[in-house]
Amino acid sequence: MRQIFLLILLFIVGQWLVKAVRRHDAQTARRTGAQGAGARSANGAAGGGAHPSAAPQLAEPMIRCVECGVHAPKSDSVVVAGQPFCSAAHAQRHGARPSGRDAR
Ligand SMILES: [Zn+2]
Repeated sequence: MRQIFLLILLFIVGQWLVKAVRRHDAQTARRTGAQGAGARSANGAAGGGAHPSAAPQLAEPMIRCVECGVHAPKSDSVVVAGQPFCSAAHAQRHGARPSGRDAR
C-alpha cells in the first residue's frame, strides 16, 4: 500500500518537474526571440515593429506634403512640378501662394 502512495507522489513530482522545465524553456525561448527581433529591427527600419501586419503598409513609400508637412502614402499624393502634396487642394494653394520664401 505504501508503494502506491510513493508512486503517486513520484508521478506528481514528475509532472511538476516537467511543467517547471517547460516554463523555463518557454522563458528562455521568448528571451532569445526578443533578442533576435531587436537585432533585426536595429539592422532594418528603426521604430517599433510590434505589428507584423504593418509590413505591407510600410512597403508603400510615403511622401511629405510641401504645403502642410503631413506624411501621406504616395498613391494618395499629388505631385506638381516635382513637389509632393497630400492633396490637390494643397498643391493649388502652394502654387497660388506668392512663393517669395520658397524661391531661392
Ligand atoms: Zn498638405
